[in-house]
Amino acid sequence: MFFNNKDKRYNRFSDYLRNLYGVKVYKVTLDAGFTCPNRDGTISNEGCIFCDGGGSFSQLYPNNISIKEQLDLGIALSKEKYKAQKFLAYFQAYSNTYKPVKELENIYNQALSHEDVIGMSIGTRPDCVDSEKLDLIASYTKNHYVWLEYGLQSIHEKSLKFINRGHSFETFVNALKETQKRNINVCAHVILGLPNETKQDMLETAKVLGDLGVNGVKIHLLCVLNNTRLVKLYYQGKIPMMEEDEYVETACDFLEMLPPDVTIHRLAGNGLKPNMLAPAWLSKKFVVLNKIDKLLEIRNSFQGAKRNIS
Ligand code: SF4
Repeated sequence: MFFNNKDKRYNRFSDYLRNLYGVKVYKVTLDAGFTCPNRDGTISNEGCIFCDGGGSFSQLYPNNISIKEQLDLGIALSKEKYKAQKFLAYFQAYSNTYKPVKELENIYNQALSHEDVIGMSIGTRPDCVDSEKLDLIASYTKNHYVWLEYGLQSIHEKSLKFINRGHSFETFVNALKETQKRNINVCAHVILGLPNETKQDMLETAKVLGDLGVNGVKIHLLCVLNNTRLVKLYYQGKIPMMEEDEYVETACDFLEMLPPDVTIHRLAGNGLKPNMLAPAWLSKKFVVLNKIDKLLEIRNSFQGAKRNIS
């Protein structure tokens, strides 16, 4: 089974968007000056164990400029590099609903008023939304293409505790239900290779997210970035890292367990190269993605293939 008129055995988000809009659509990452309750002392001041203090911001241009300037820069770069023609403003750094609703409105309006922007994707924590904020975000769906991306990482409480997420799986489920009531697309972020998770645990995350009806999934591999609390544990030998082939196999298993209509926003996330300590093999991301394609082909399998097999 191939997806989006492409030679792909999974529902890649970039292909899905091209099908939807007929042109290349690109997400321009933004840092709109948010922080995070898991860093500012509200929940903790230590942050998630894998977070380097940059709040997962992955763009190479400076983040101390206005939203319009960041968009101008990001759009110009992606027009040139990827031949993109339409753009989504991606509020990526930290928790992008973690301000009073009036301020959120002002921030989102700045991005959506840009002439080249057709919508937005808002990355946040499930404990940083409420009805007022979700109503505001839902109001944009009338005229724009809108996604909410919830950091979850795993459905298993033992893992949420280990990575110091500071919220439970139940918090995610409640936020998801409130978001779905308002017809906002939801993407859940997950991490494969968390210590103490078996492959069965990871596949259960895929199965449950599918059952809950998320619209998209962003899949990361646990990697060790400098300036994170993982570094010390890694050097103490307490963080077994997945080998490349193991990740490829697990990612394929994970895809087979997700419903086919769930869009895959990322399949092997990584940090900025200079900032990444391990695993070294992830710096060649294209090799990993090719291996995933190849293994699905060898298995003659596709996203959703094992969805109904318990
Ligand atoms: S929720 Fe996001 S920004 Fe906050 S500590 Fe965790 S990874 Fe970092």
